[in-house]
Amino acid sequence: MSLIQTTSTNASPVHLNGLPLDIYERLLRGVAIATNVLLTESDYHAAINIALSILGEATGVDRVYIFEHHPHQPTRVPALSQRWEWVAAGVAPEIDNSMLQNLPYSDFLPRWQVELSQGRSIVGLIQDFPPSEQALLEPQGILSILVVPIKLKDQVWGFVGFDQCQIAHQWSETEIATLWAIAGSFGGTIARHQMEQSLQEINRTLEEKVALRTQELTLAKDQADKANQAKSEFLANMSHELRTPLNGILGYAQILARSQTLSTQDRQGIDIIHQCGDHLLNLINEILDLAKIEVGKMVLQPTATHLLSLLQSVVEICKVKADQKGLSFFYRPSHDLPIGVEVDEKKLRQVLINLVGNAIKFTEKGSVTLQVDVLSATDDRVSLRFCVVDTGIGIAKTEFQRIFQAFEQLDTGRPTVEGTGLGLAISQQIVQLMASVIEVSSQLEQGSTFAFTLELPLVTEWGSRQLALTLGDRIVGYLGPPRRILIVDDNWQNRSVVVGLLAPLGFEVLEADNGETGLVQMRSHLPDLVITDLAMPVLDGYGFIQAVRQDDQLRHYPIVVSSASVSQADQQLALNCGGDIFLAKPIQAQTLLATLATCLNLTWAYATPSHTAPETGTTDVARLVPPVATLVTLLQLAQQDNIQSLREHLTALKQQDHGYSGFVDPLLGLAKQFRTEEIEQHLSAVLAQAGQEGLVL
Ligand code: ADP
Repeated sequence: MSLIQTTSTNASPVHLNGLPLDIYERLLRGVAIATNVLLTESDYHAAINIALSILGEATGVDRVYIFEHHPHQPTRVPALSQRWEWVAAGVAPEIDNSMLQNLPYSDFLPRWQVELSQGRSIVGLIQDFPPSEQALLEPQGILSILVVPIKLKDQVWGFVGFDQCQIAHQWSETEIATLWAIAGSFGGTIARHQMEQSLQEINRTLEEKVALRTQELTLAKDQADKANQAKSEFLANMSHELRTPLNGILGYAQILARSQTLSTQDRQGIDIIHQCGDHLLNLINEILDLAKIEVGKMVLQPTATHLLSLLQSVVEICKVKADQKGLSFFYRPSHDLPIGVEVDEKKLRQVLINLVGNAIKFTEKGSVTLQVDVLSATDDRVSLRFCVVDTGIGIAKTEFQRIFQAFEQLDTGRPTVEGTGLGLAISQQIVQLMASVIEVSSQLEQGSTFAFTLELPLVTEWGSRQLALTLGDRIVGYLGPPRRILIVDDNWQNRSVVVGLLAPLGFEVLEADNGETGLVQMRSHLPDLVITDLAMPVLDGYGFIQAVRQDDQLRHYPIVVSSASVSQADQQLALNCGGDIFLAKPIQAQTLLATLATCLNLTWAYATPSHTAPETGTTDVARLVPPVATLVTLLQLAQQDNIQSLREHLTALKQQDHGYSGFVDPLLGLAKQFRTEEIEQHLSAVLAQAGQEGLVL
């Protein structure tokens, strides 16, 4: 029932604010519901359409509509267009009336433009309106109209209008005021929609900008990656170039050092070649390490590690240096250190040697202490605290950060000591890779402490094979039938190093200078194992390995890849192609022998003690034998003809424990007579014995 009909048929209803109570209530309820819809409905168009229909029902008018105010296209004069409309049943809709789209106010409604823009409503009977307005409104059948401006902030956006087509209705003040209120709600909804749209627009442009920036960054990253890649390749190539000749130098030094016929002088010369080569290799490795860190390519390779022997080897190396400087060296391992842990052994050793080495370098008197404590342990993990304490020159607090930067050396130590300033930078990076950090505390002229804590998995099963590997120096052959090894390398020096190492041990060694000749050799001789280089002419190592793996007759043979190209990517590629093990050049005799033992399941034959016992004939004397690591150090000193250091070591051993006298005295006797070869033979025999008895370090 329409509002107009109700007012005209109801004789004496209760009135409120000039309207019959029920009509007033219906109007208010309608406005309230419409406002609620406008506020809560998320679909903007649906919200307005529903609100219009609720208002239409509540007011009982024939049409409710909304027009938007906008510049006329194309003249830009003010114009209006109908956007939404609700009509009562039986009333003709005007939403498709093209007259009501893009209609300049000046055509029919100049008065409306003035009134609305000043925030006033248009209200009244069409018959009282100017003729131009009647010309537009009467054809739509409108008798009475109420148009209220919709404002967004201070601007008129458009208007909401109510048509009465059946009766010339006089709008009451209450109706006008109520409809003003709902016009405000429409304004709010439209404003919210505009805001959402502009937010969406901002989001869209932001997304576009982000996409563009991401594209730019990806491009920049690609370029940086390419540059990094080029740098890595350059470093890998350079290290390859440097390692290849070093391989020859170090390999031959090792072969010559095994000769029994050298004079002491020649041996010294070879020793120097070996030491210089080693030093050069260390330098290359250090620079390569740093470069790897820079391009984020240093990765840890944790393996089951005999912790005690690792620490012992660090102690052995560093103690010699400390002794040479007249410093006391204290090694304080906790009594409950685990035997085996999983850690990157090489890198942990590198860090410890760097820290202890520095402590010795920068201490002129007093002591250096390496302390290793167990902070906590569970069934499968242990937390270890490594501490290196010295009584040296100390470091000013302000320099704590600087010393960990590459190529930084402090003035305090510089005039007297050598070094590159790389050690701590590398050590810190390694320890950080191990999820820890090296901390320093120090006082000038008092000394320094460098410490870090590692959480490591425990290793419970400990193979005795690892131990035997340290004894490679005195391996003289192997048990069982002769084995045939093919070495594929384009560099004859590299091949001859391997031949020189393996032939004396009874291996039949075949040679090929590229992958193609390697395949020919393999087919005709069926070697037990192949050692191949990667970079070679005609057919390189990758192609060679792939060809072997695709050949039914050859595919089962173990292939050891030995290359100077040490990048992780090259190693991985070689293994992916079908290589079984990767050995970095220069090849270390012991590593090669250990690899052969694993791949060919060999049992080594060692030089027997009965052939090599010293003339002093003390073999039956009950005596304490030093740990294997100490034996290895002594053996190395003997091999180097370093009599001075050897004697110092032996004397210190005796002072440490008199139980060693039976072991030490005969060797000291030989040392006094410079009979290093016999000392060497004796130590090798003891070591071999220790290996066969499975003694621990
Ligand atoms: P390098 O020892 O090759 O110079 P490092 O990176 O190992 O390089 O050490 C950087 C610098 O930190 C050293 O040159 C020295 O000035 C200082 N430093 C390191 N360890 C100690 C220490 N234990 N006592 C005093 N100064 C030290």
